[in-house]
Amino acid sequence: MELTNIPEFKCKKCLKNFEIEIDDFETDTYSYERSMGNENQYNWNYIGNCPHCDNDLEISFDAYEYPVGMLNYEDSELTGCEFIIKPIFNVHNEDFETDI
Ligand SMILES: [Zn+2]
Repeated sequence: MELTNIPEFKCKKCLKNFEIEIDDFETDTYSYERSMGNENQYNWNYIGNCPHCDNDLEISFDAYEYPVGMLNYEDSELTGCEFIIKPIFNVHNEDFETDI
């Protein structure tokens, strides 16, 4: 699973927009056994401050792949900001990649 765009956010305090580069997110992968094989959860997490006003931000979003090769479900939780441009996920249909 990978992100194909740079998500953009709007600070709830100063109401200005900002982007966060993909490299600035921490990523985690989880795997669960389900009836049609593994379900893979990919998490992107960012804890930092607004580049304009230093407001505390916490951004977390998840993409669930189930069955493998299909994007099943997306979820997100934002503190201190809201989405301007949502992340767009791309699932690899080839071999399952364990490191993202
Ligand atoms: Zn701000």
